[in-house]
Amino acid sequence: MFDYLIVGAGFAGSVLAERLARGAGKRVLLVDKRMHIGGNAYDFYNEHGILVHRYGPHIFHTNSAEVFDYLSRFTAWREYQHRVKASVDGMLVPIPINLDTVNQLYGLQLDPAGMKEFLAQVAEPVSPLVTSEDVVVSGMGRELYEKFFRGYTRKQWGLDPSELDAQVTARVPLRVNRDCRYFTDSFQAMPFAGYTRMFENMLDHPNIKLMLNVDFREIGGQVKYQEIIFTGPVDEYFDHRFGKLPYRSLEFRHETHHRPDFQGHAVINYPNDYAFTRVTEFKYLTGQVHPSTSVVYEYPKAEGDPYYPIPRPANADLYRRYKELAAATEGVHFVGRLATYKYYNMDQVVAQALQLFGRLTGLKRQEATS
Ligand code: FAD
Ligand code: UDP
Repeated sequence: MFDYLIVGAGFAGSVLAERLARGAGKRVLLVDKRMHIGGNAYDFYNEHGILVHRYGPHIFHTNSAEVFDYLSRFTAWREYQHRVKASVDGMLVPIPINLDTVNQLYGLQLDPAGMKEFLAQVAEPVSPLVTSEDVVVSGMGRELYEKFFRGYTRKQWGLDPSELDAQVTARVPLRVNRDCRYFTDSFQAMPFAGYTRMFENMLDHPNIKLMLNVDFREIGGQVKYQEIIFTGPVDEYFDHRFGKLPYRSLEFRHETHHRPDFQGHAVINYPNDYAFTRVTEFKYLTGQVHPSTSVVYEYPKAEGDPYYPIPRPANADLYRRYKELAAATEGVHFVGRLATYKYYNMDQVVAQALQLFGRLTGLKRQEATS
């Protein structure tokens, strides 16, 4: 007899398994239909001995000391500030767009004040900011929008930025200084021995029973449990009763090159060329020293494993119906990126899971009773 059946061993499911077992003395059965823990953050040493992320690059960043402290119980960290280049007009320039991007692209020598003036001249203010096109065009005008955002977004989402909520492109800031970091969060780091090792440490508790390669539907009536925590796609849980919620998928092409360096950068984005959006070279993220190097290409597609909820009004309407149904379904709790249909980063999922732990147990989120 288990207190909880938790479906999905990604961040959402693993944090709850850990908290309920270690923090509240509950007995937990954690199942995942994949062959591994970690969900989309899963990493592993490939056949050449290089640490790679199976489902694309995962860089940890957060402004939440609570989330960072919590995860620090299960891993040491390697400080890492992520930097990305975009391949535009035959050049590799910093993205997010900053002072250097504009100077390089147009052969200028602007200072921050000059950059502000430049932006004031090219920006095409839109009010209110509703779509992903509005956000970018308002900040930097149509030319930079076309060079950096339109093509990338159409590839990534299969939609024009004008069809997506503002929050999608608003993830990428615009800077008038020379800060070329992708994120500015106060905590930015990679788990020292990788994500999977961190998950192993989280789940190492006698009250947690782990079953891999098992779809939760296969369990049927064979196991007794009090409540379910579900972290898979919410529409799938309800057999797509109101129709399918669209998720964007990706195909990953992993390659290893037998030379120490492949592209000289952690990530290069290709907004306008090729069918892939970006190429990631893992050694830059992990700091691993190795005579060979492994990279991954990301090819967006409509069908396949669900990776991204698609933020647009029609999908929000459909999700609202599932959300109401979920709220009315006693004994089942929905949490995580797929189950709450939110374009969440890892830290936001951890925060959401810690919050649910608090609601389920009445305990302070990180309190340990055993
Ligand atoms: P998941 O990790 O998707 O876990 C859900 C699990 O449920 C899966 O393992 C799945 O197999 C399992 N499952 C589903 N249905 C069933 C079923 N019926 N039975 C059994 N098991 C089931 N975030 C960042 O903070 N930084 C980044 O750099 C970053 N990069 C990303 C890059 C890519 C390409 C992608 C796709 C995402 C990225 N993210 C990043 C987001 C991050 O992956 C998510 O926020 C996080 O992994 C979500 O955790 P989760 O537990 O909600 O979902
Ligand atoms: N984006 C873009 N060009 C870029 C980088 C990002 O158009 O060079 C847009 C694109 O729509 C992308 C979104 O901004 O999906 C968010 O970018 P982010 O890097 O956060 O995407 P993720 O890492 O979640 O795939």
